[in-house]
This record gives sequence, structure tokens and C-alpha cells, in this order.
Amino acid sequence: MIKLSQTDPRSPKTTVTADKVAASLSLAIHEHRLAPGTKLGEDEISELFGVSRTVVRAGLQSLAHQQLVEIQRNRGAFVAQPSLREAREVFEARELLEPRTARSAALRATPQDITILEQHIKDEHAAIAAADQGRALRLSGQFHIEISRIADQTTIAGFIEALIARSSLIIALYWRRESALCESFAHHALVEAIAQGDGQKAQELMHSHLVDLHSALDLRDRTAQSRSLKDALRL
Ligand SMILES: [Zn+2]
Repeated sequence: MIKLSQTDPRSPKTTVTADKVAASLSLAIHEHRLAPGTKLGEDEISELFGVSRTVVRAGLQSLAHQQLVEIQRNRGAFVAQPSLREAREVFEARELLEPRTARSAALRATPQDITILEQHIKDEHAAIAAADQGRALRLSGQFHIEISRIADQTTIAGFIEALIARSSLIIALYWRRESALCESFAHHALVEAIAQGDGQKAQELMHSHLVDLHSALDLRDRTAQSRSLKDALRL
């Protein structure tokens, strides 16, 4: 969890750098405290963080680079709002990449990797038990990123990380199930296959898991609501 050091008496507001502004906004986007389409006003952010507009602009630029934020000429910055077409494309790309990655992970995983994955599931459960859906969502995304790390394919892992960031926005817009996101059963089964070194099974499980997630998107409804920026950032 990223904490703002704004109130640190030894080094006041200057410690809040563009990176921290970006990290705080990114966390709020991933945890669905900031809905797609929300206006990210430079003045408001600069006031909330106690930093200059130059710092805010640099932070927003870096989020735009990660495609989490869209900067529109003369209108300012907004939380990105992936289109229906992009939503389908992102999940199709994940269905292409991630099953192979899960296969490689199963062939490479060390006992330590399995412990990390199991801990991930525990953290996810704790977040769900605490009714913190946003945190649960972010952790379930990180579970997928962790598998690509274990697979040790840096280039593909980079793609997957970007796709998961987009997925987070897509889920905020188009998710239609009441239940927790990545159903823990699917993640459990994956960890089991990876622990057994069963590449074929891990590949199949990841594929059906992603098809299942894809089918849970309602590609008509887009009614995400956002609270105020101040509230969403927990400042
Ligand atoms: Zn999942």
C-alpha cells in the first residue's frame, strides 16, 4: 500500500513527487475508487497533494503512458474509458498469452514461488472478507502478473501487466457479476496445477478461467459511478 508522505514533518510537501501522485492515482484506479471517465482536474489534484501543477502534470503524463489516463486537448485528463471493442481485444489478447505463460510457470515454479502464489490467494480472501472489493480486484490482477513473473518471460510479462491494467478499467465499466472477480476456485486450481508441474493442465485452466472472465463482461452496460476525487484518493 502506497502511503503519502505529505505530513512528514522532516520533509514537507516537496517529498510528494510526481511518482507518488501517479502511484496514488493508479492505486485508486485499480481499486475502482476512481471510475473510468472521471475528470482528473490539475488544480484539484495539486491542492489535494499540496504540489505544483507541474508535478501533477508529470504524474498524469506517466499514467497516460500506461494508458490508465487519457489526456484530451483543451479538456484535460480523465481516467481512461476503454471502448467495447478494446474490451474484447484485451481479453482476446489475454486468452492468447496467458495460457502459454501458465504452462511455462508450471514447468519452472520453485516451492518458494508456490508459497508466494498461495499467499496471494490468502490476501485476496482477506480483502473479500473485509468487503474491500477494490483491493481484492487489484490482488487478483497481481496474481496473474505473478504467474508471468514465474514464467520468466520478461517481454510477455510486460504485455500481460499492461493488459491487466486495462482489464481493471474494463471490469470497472463492464463487469456484471455480483461475485468476487477471479473466483478463488479458479486460482486455487491453477496453483495446484503449477505446484504439480503440470504444464498442460495449467494452460487449460488458465484458458478456461479467462474465457469465463470474458463471458462475465456485459458489453452493453456502462454505468460506473465515481465519488469525489478527494474521497476516492482517501486524502
Ligand atoms: Zn484470475
